[in-house]
Amino acid sequence: MGFLHYFSRLVEKRNKKRIAFCKLEGTCPECQGNGVNMLGIEQYTMSYYYVCNGCNGSGSFSDWVEIN
Ligand SMILES: [Zn+2]
Repeated sequence: MGFLHYFSRLVEKRNKKRIAFCKLEGTCPECQGNGVNMLGIEQYTMSYYYVCNGCNGSGSFSDWVEIN
């Protein structure tokens, strides 16, 4: 269980870093300000995407904070 604990701590740390960076940039951490997220392999074709749930498609950090 030690490794799992270590790993989850690492992921948490990385997420916090990412969110802090997005806050500076003013962009949604889930879609990096694109307003949409790609699904799996389809990201390579750019033909299928869905509106980001985190920011409701606006791509802004303040909207992400409000929704989350
Ligand atoms: Zn978003």
